[in-house]
Amino acid sequence: MDLDFWWLLVIPVAFALGWMASRYDLKALLSESANLPRSYFRGLNFLLNEQPDKAIDAFIEVAKLDPETVELHFALGNLFRRRGETDRAIRVHQNLLSRADLPANERDHALYELGQDFLKAGMLDRAEETFGTLKSGDYAQGAQRALLTIYEIEKDWNRSIETARQLETMGAPPLGLEIAQFHCELAQEALQRKNPEEARRQLGLALKANPQNVRATILAGDVDAASGDAQSALMQWKRVEPQNPAYLPLVAEKVMKAYDTLGRAPEGAQLLTEWVDRHSQNDLLDVAYKYVAELNGPDAAHTLARTQMQKSPNLAGMTRLLEAQQAVAEEPRRSELELMRKLIQQRTKNLPRYTCQNCGFRARLFYWQCPGCSGWETYAPRRVEPIPASS
Ligand SMILES: [Zn+2]
Repeated sequence: MDLDFWWLLVIPVAFALGWMASRYDLKALLSESANLPRSYFRGLNFLLNEQPDKAIDAFIEVAKLDPETVELHFALGNLFRRRGETDRAIRVHQNLLSRADLPANERDHALYELGQDFLKAGMLDRAEETFGTLKSGDYAQGAQRALLTIYEIEKDWNRSIETARQLETMGAPPLGLEIAQFHCELAQEALQRKNPEEARRQLGLALKANPQNVRATILAGDVDAASGDAQSALMQWKRVEPQNPAYLPLVAEKVMKAYDTLGRAPEGAQLLTEWVDRHSQNDLLDVAYKYVAELNGPDAAHTLARTQMQKSPNLAGMTRLLEAQQAVAEEPRRSELELMRKLIQQRTKNLPRYTCQNCGFRARLFYWQCPGCSGWETYAPRRVEPIPASS
């Protein structure tokens, strides 16, 4: 009985304590808001009434009166930029910069944000100019990274290499993978200008920056082939297998063409069959199947498709197997097989082939740089097996 009585007392005591605490909070809040300038509330009011221009003016007034509100400007500027209202973001950051009393680090921060506004607005010249002023301080590395993005967009590969090297000296993680790709871009340009010496020089530099770079090996073959040396081109492309066999589908057609040029097409078909056997890839099977059927006949193609289907069953392989069976079948079985093959093909043919492992962007063509997120070597060099729709 005594115990119950004491428990009842706890409730009013807790209530009284809560009331006192809330009064204390309210007092603290009131004294804090008394310190805030009226412009701050005017600004908030304009913002709530969806009059952002007037709100900015009010907040700029706050910033003039009280340097502590600089963060408020950065928050507003970033908000506008994220919403795509870059002209407003630019105005906010430019206004901050116009203040003579802005501390050096806040000035760097404002310059960095202004550069990002210009970049987002596509004003690359002004972005480059702004980031270029941030040579030292807390924002120097971020500015350098932004400059790298700008040079990549402009396809200025020499300056991209220079900037990436600069970033490495500033303590950024190694950028060998990117630098090798920039050299490959320069090699490709040299190849288009019909300057094989320069192309080979760039490819050497690419492999020096990143010995795992397969693109340089493939391009080295392209340069030899363009110079009319199919034999050397073949030697280069064959090096893709020990380097990284996942990329073999990218050279399968090239290899076949080189063997054909040399008048040794059956050897090419044999090599492709061996590659399919060793690495079981659909994209390789597609190329190998076409040439084996053409050179060695439907039975050889059927054996190739069946062996692969047993090794790694999938829809793309199934299409090839049905095609092989159809080639040797009699009517009416032939029509049945064709119907099945077409049905499977319909499900697979329109689906995108390559998927960016970074942003998920899908493309029918293979890219060394993702068109979605601009990442380098983010595409696995194989088509993704389509997921059949459940119905
Ligand atoms: Zn991507």
